[in-house]
Amino acid sequence: MKPQSRQTAAEELDAHDPLRAAADEFVLDDCVYLDGNSLGRMPRCVPERLREVADGEWGAGLVGSWLHHDWINLPARVGGRIAPLIGAGADEVVVGNSTTVNLFNATASALGLGSRRRIVTDESNFPTDLYALEGLQRLLGATITIDRVPAEDVLRALDGNTALVLLSHVDYRTATVLDMKRITQETHRAGGLVLWDLSHSAGALPVDLNGCNADLAVGCTYKYLNGGPGAPAFTFAARRWHEKIRPVVSGWLGHKSPFAFDPVYEPAAGIRRLLSGTPEVLALSALDASLSVFERFDLHALRAKSLQLTELFIQQIEQRCGKFGFGIVSPRDPDRRGSHVAVAHDHGYAIMQALIERRIVGDFRAPNLMRFGFAPLYQRFSDVEACVGALEDIMRTGIWQAERFRSRAFVT
Ligand SMILES: *Cc1c(COP(=O)(O)O)cnc(C)c1O
Repeated sequence: MKPQSRQTAAEELDAHDPLRAAADEFVLDDCVYLDGNSLGRMPRCVPERLREVADGEWGAGLVGSWLHHDWINLPARVGGRIAPLIGAGADEVVVGNSTTVNLFNATASALGLGSRRRIVTDESNFPTDLYALEGLQRLLGATITIDRVPAEDVLRALDGNTALVLLSHVDYRTATVLDMKRITQETHRAGGLVLWDLSHSAGALPVDLNGCNADLAVGCTYKYLNGGPGAPAFTFAARRWHEKIRPVVSGWLGHKSPFAFDPVYEPAAGIRRLLSGTPEVLALSALDASLSVFERFDLHALRAKSLQLTELFIQQIEQRCGKFGFGIVSPRDPDRRGSHVAVAHDHGYAIMQALIERRIVGDFRAPNLMRFGFAPLYQRFSDVEACVGALEDIMRTGIWQAERFRSRAFVT
């Protein structure tokens, strides 16, 4: 074989990628997009659906569309579409509000399921998770205790007063995957419940909430689920809790009969009681369309591809950029690694800005982490090669030291 006709490892992998067709479902551009873990790419079917909903349903149907276009059931219907991606029953998931509000609601409501008053979380959990707990602490004062411990110490921190453990299944910084089954089992053994934040899991790797006997979960839909900026978040509650849980953010659409306008709150049957206010119809419609893409591809195949992508990336960073002071922070063990790779560098912010100038888009998380997300639905193996090649060049030439890459934007 002539050397010039040899394919690179990445080209070879792209040529044999069983998920190659999935990228055609998305609006692509010339940018090497490695930030699907922050905002997923837009599926082609979304703008069409939005136009339909705007013109045909809102514009032409107005208030009658709550019934005629079944807007009223969107939160549960879209929840049912997310369910198979997270190992839940179709009647165990609803969609609405932000992840933050759902975290607060689920946490506060879980306290009502028993008499224990202690919550344990990971000290390096996503800040909004910690802030929601702080808000709950301000509200309830000394009647509750919130303990933040390193993720690896959570099981040791369980005691006879632990009501709830709140953890992110995949760490937003390092991509470390926690052992959902074991942590849930041990927490149950200690008499507590677990609330899983699936923001970096849903759509990136198969999650088996019911297989792990999970109690509660929340997660956002604009990352790997490609629901669009500000897409509403989901809440999962295991069926065994449906009739026991009394939501704290109780609203009229979680009432058993919203249009009775009853002055007293009576929770709806089932998961619907976790709804609060009017559904985000436009955003839910966009998300609904996005989720249809997942129905055509196998989640286990997506996981296999995601691991191949992150593996190739780690390998290439080490081979080609090892001498420039980068440190791989994400787990080497594929079973413990989510779908992004965190790379530490003292000048990570400036280096990422230099990559972005070359239309290679990842992001940066303080204090020193560059994050490279690999969304298996639309990622190409050649993206890995393009990114590492550009990174090598940026380091070799020292271009990242230019003044224009220094000043920090508000959004990083
Ligand atoms: C992205 C993310 C969120 C986002 O919360 P919003 O209220 O939807 O902005 C929450 N938790 C984790 C772990 C996340 O990764």
